Amino acid sequence: MDLGLKDKVALVLASSKGLGKAVAIELAREGAKVIICGTDSVALAKTEIEINSIAPAKVVSFLCDLTDEVQRKQLVSKSFSAFGRIDILVTNTGGPPAGGIDQFHLDDWKHLYNLLFLSAVDIIQQVLPSMKENGWGRILTITSITVKQPVDNLMSSNSVRTSLVGLVKSLSNEVASKGITVNNIMPGYTETNRLKHLMEVNPNLSKVMEAIPMKRFGSVEEFAAAAAFLVSERASYITGQSLAVDGGWIKGN
Ligand code: NAD
Repeated sequence: MDLGLKDKVALVLASSKGLGKAVAIELAREGAKVIICGTDSVALAKTEIEINSIAPAKVVSFLCDLTDEVQRKQLVSKSFSAFGRIDILVTNTGGPPAGGIDQFHLDDWKHLYNLLFLSAVDIIQQVLPSMKENGWGRILTITSITVKQPVDNLMSSNSVRTSLVGLVKSLSNEVASKGITVNNIMPGYTETNRLKHLMEVNPNLSKVMEAIPMKRFGSVEEFAAAAAFLVSERASYITGQSLAVDGGWIKGN
């Protein structure tokens, strides 16, 4: 199937490693131009080289701390300058720390809200006007299975991320008639550095594989394939949805 992504311009947030990187690579393979960003300059440069080897002259990278409002503005402005437009926005961030209610103080909550919610909303608001003008756009938020089924000891993810899913549904209705779709994708346990870290700090997580009907963790490529479809031309009648890529882990419908 031709996804219709050739020469679309995609801004993929937090994409020097892990899920974001895999999505950027998949989109580049499908012929899109991609803008990647992250806080780790070494990883970012490596990823840019990797994507450039797959799709020459179709990638630019910018260092950006997504919790910083000024850097977010600069990122969007440099992205528009790089390729002249943004057709696709994939929001993502580094993961929040593990812990229960006693581990987080008010300032921690403010930081987490900024990281997981405001970073996405701010950039969505910056790119929407041009998508409306073009009459075409794709917005995809990367959250987590925690928005459907809480994971023990991941209080911050279980709580703050649900606000973004509320925004996705509401925004999808607002912009549906403008050719813009807005969806959410919920990674389950997927093999990245983040998963390695969570396994180290939460020994119970080693039992998690037993609870996954497929009895294995997902690969970043499996996740990226689903994400690429959702932001493609072919997914033109899908909006306001949350798709779990979790090997069947979520127990509810
Ligand atoms: P990762 O640690 O492998 O990669 C995180 C990326 O985010 C890196 O590119 C890093 O540079 C970037 N980043 C971190 N903080 C940033 C900041 N302040 N500004 C800009 N970039 C920043 O993580 P991952 O596994 O790819 O996870 C991505 C998201 O998906 C996280 O929010 C994570 O909690 C969530 N998630 C992951 C899994 C999983 O199993 N991997 C499951 C559910 C949810």
